[in-house]
Amino acid sequence: MIVKMIKMTLKPSHILEDAGFSILTCMQCGTCTGGCPSGTYTGLNTRRIIQSVRRDKDVLNDDDLWMCTTCYTCQERCPRGIRTVDAILTLRTEAIKQGFMLPAHRKVAQAVLLKGHAVPINDDFMEKREQLGLDRLPNTVHKFPDALEQVKKLLESTGFTELTEESE
Ligand code: SF4
Ligand code: SF4
Repeated sequence: MIVKMIKMTLKPSHILEDAGFSILTCMQCGTCTGGCPSGTYTGLNTRRIIQSVRRDKDVLNDDDLWMCTTCYTCQERCPRGIRTVDAILTLRTEAIKQGFMLPAHRKVAQAVLLKGHAVPINDDFMEKREQLGLDRLPNTVHKFPDALEQVKKLLESTGFTELTEESE
């Protein structure tokens, strides 16, 4: 459930047009939606999102925008070659810039900021790695905790830290 509502300052169609997307070629065939694994379990409907953007409806406040797992099935199958996933990610980016992010996604982003991993390792993973003949810890900040400060600096320099902070 999204708490903050974005006031539409930019028209969604302009956001995508400015980013080089040609959504006007969409023929509403629904191939994208038909093959969407996430849409089977959530309200995500890629065809509808594209149509809403064309009509300049308020998609930036739509929770479903955040249900895409970026598996790219829809983009690979679109007969019109529309970069559906890239379009969804562009819309999400705009939503984030305006301080709007699904709380679960914000939590993951904050985990990256805090621990350098979206999904930190646990005992189970370490055991499985060992069974596979791997080091218990991967060559990330788990093994090199001193590098965490560098990761944080890097994220800060890209604006990630500011964008993922809790909004009022
Ligand atoms: S598959 Fe492509 S053309 Fe068909 S509805 Fe989806 S975006 Fe439009
Ligand atoms: S990339 Fe996203 S919208 Fe496309 S099929 Fe996968 S989950 Fe669905």
